[in-house]
Amino acid sequence: MPVETAIYTKMENEAVRCGVCPRRCMIEEGNRGFCNVRENKEGKLFSLVYGKAVSSTVDPIEKKPLFHFAPGSRALSIATVGCNLRCDFCQNFRISQDWKEIRGEELPPEKVVEEAERYSCEGIAYTYTEPTVFLEYARDTMRKASPFHYNVFVSNGYMTEESVKEIAPHLDAINVDLKGGEKFYEEHCAVPDMEPIKEAMKAINERDILLEVTNLIIPGENDSEEEIKERVDWIKENLGRDTPVHFSRFRPDFRMRDKKPTPLETLEKAINIAKNRGLYHVYCGNVPGHRSESTYCPRCSELVVKREGFSVKKLNLRKGMRCGSCGKELNIRGEDWIPDKLFKG
Ligand code: SF4
Repeated sequence: MPVETAIYTKMENEAVRCGVCPRRCMIEEGNRGFCNVRENKEGKLFSLVYGKAVSSTVDPIEKKPLFHFAPGSRALSIATVGCNLRCDFCQNFRISQDWKEIRGEELPPEKVVEEAERYSCEGIAYTYTEPTVFLEYARDTMRKASPFHYNVFVSNGYMTEESVKEIAPHLDAINVDLKGGEKFYEEHCAVPDMEPIKEAMKAINERDILLEVTNLIIPGENDSEEEIKERVDWIKENLGRDTPVHFSRFRPDFRMRDKKPTPLETLEKAINIAKNRGLYHVYCGNVPGHRSESTYCPRCSELVVKREGFSVKKLNLRKGMRCGSCGKELNIRGEDWIPDKLFKG
């Protein structure tokens, strides 16, 4: 059922300007915005995907990936169709970009929470496509879920300050894709200016929300040493050296099927650059069994969270989110939702 959207301005001649993402689409009566899920009906802007879940599955939180929030917990993961980017390498293109009609199961916010309870999920994840474009659905679900369940976003970060304010009160954690530099965003994602993504990350980081960053490394596109250094330095200076960063392996898909998967050496080089430049928590993504899937204490180097794939095998963490070996306080949150059996005590 379409609902009036949260953030827009009425303009002349029944046009509206959407304020949810930095595109700030000017939409004439009867038309939709760039994301194709917001429509101007008689001078009001409506979300066409409210309560229409195109996906609702139970995932380990590690799959998002979120490694520093409630390790070992499970999240009911929902999405609608639509996206505000046009990434050539999208892994979920059938529901983000390459779809014809609004579709999905009727799953209003209260039903999402019921489903989370039915499957004994500790939290709810807004993911797979870009949750910013289904902001009102996510916001209302978060309000109903909190404080009994946590709420996490997996996002491209292309959102306005107004959207950050709208979701922040009930958002516990977010993973944002930092995909590359200006040229990369322009050529491969249809983003004319990446600055708003950086601004949104800084705005989120200033609030009480755990932020993790993912960088999908694509051979020949965003894998040069200089670029990786630049990205790492930006994260360190603007978000802090204890921000968890995931360098993920690219798999050929959508409009980038001609590329090869990322060589392991490239990922390991990126991990080494990030560690050498001072980041504490750097992970290897999409390489099951890699040593860098686990979390180590930045002070004593002992294993804190042992992972294998998306599964947590061991937690060497004391209550208060401290290293179980040396007691250092770590940037890991969501203590209330960590399954008790995993705690050292
Ligand atoms: S959310 Fe959609 S309609 Fe709104 S500005 Fe972004 S792309 Fe345009």
